[in-house]
Amino acid sequence: MRENIWTGAVDIGGTKIQIGLVDRAGRILQEKTFQTNAGRQSPQKAMENIDRTLRKQCAAIGVDYKALQGIGVSCAGPVDAQKGIVENPYTLPGWEGFPLVEDLSARSGLPVRLENDANGALLGEILQRGLWDQKVLMVTFGTGIGVAFWNGRAVYRSGRFHPEMGHIIVASGGDACYCGHRGCFESRCSGQALNRRAAQTGYTDFDALYAAAVADGPAAQLLEEICRDIQNGIWSLSVIFKPQCIVLGGGFTKRYFQMLRDATLRDSAGKGDFLEEFSVLPALENRNSALVGAVMLFKEENQDEEV
Ligand SMILES: [Zn+2]
Repeated sequence: MRENIWTGAVDIGGTKIQIGLVDRAGRILQEKTFQTNAGRQSPQKAMENIDRTLRKQCAAIGVDYKALQGIGVSCAGPVDAQKGIVENPYTLPGWEGFPLVEDLSARSGLPVRLENDANGALLGEILQRGLWDQKVLMVTFGTGIGVAFWNGRAVYRSGRFHPEMGHIIVASGGDACYCGHRGCFESRCSGQALNRRAAQTGYTDFDALYAAAVADGPAAQLLEEICRDIQNGIWSLSVIFKPQCIVLGGGFTKRYFQMLRDATLRDSAGKGDFLEEFSVLPALENRNSALVGAVMLFKEENQDEEV
């Protein structure tokens, strides 16, 4: 509907919650951040803050709160997107089992949709870059590894929870992961894992290992092993999803995009029977893609509508 051009957008992380009004093109008009205080502040209190903030933001720009097309929420996973429940015992203590959609829609009187932050960030990239009709794989290298896929019409889902594609196996050994396996992508290649692997070989952290790899044989050997693991992870995902665009995000990528890009592209030339031609892009840095992505939670099912 033409008049419902604004969406309430919320991005809930372990340390902060961002709240804003976003238009159909992904422009953020109002934005406010407050501390999550998980464990000290109840999720109900956070919902009260979100509802109150959105009402104020609507009043500030002269928009009727009830005219918002809804509230889209990206939340640190795992979340049960189908039931609208937060299931995160890792970074949101006290929120486990919280029926976010039920609570926030009762307060606001608006439709509410919930998605995990890996999908939220991917949706923001799709909207801001206009990649609607492309197959896009996003891999986020941070404390863990988050993977999300857009198939050209919708986000790839498998059941109630986000598919745990950061836990595909990329090597036959390594430290045990909380997923119950050794050699998975996250336990080998997340920012945290790379620092740990560097430390196990006698370097302060991955930065020190990377710097030493220019001249030092053992460092170069470990760096080569790491790049091979990264290549294995992205190759395995790519032969399944055949992306036309791979977006690399996360704090670790900001420093090592070139290395990750090289590992992604290595041995991919001339593999037209296994892969589609693809580009590799760094995630947009200047915007909060997960916040912008909240708009897409209301667009995904209406791809044929005029936007
Ligand atoms: Zn794992």
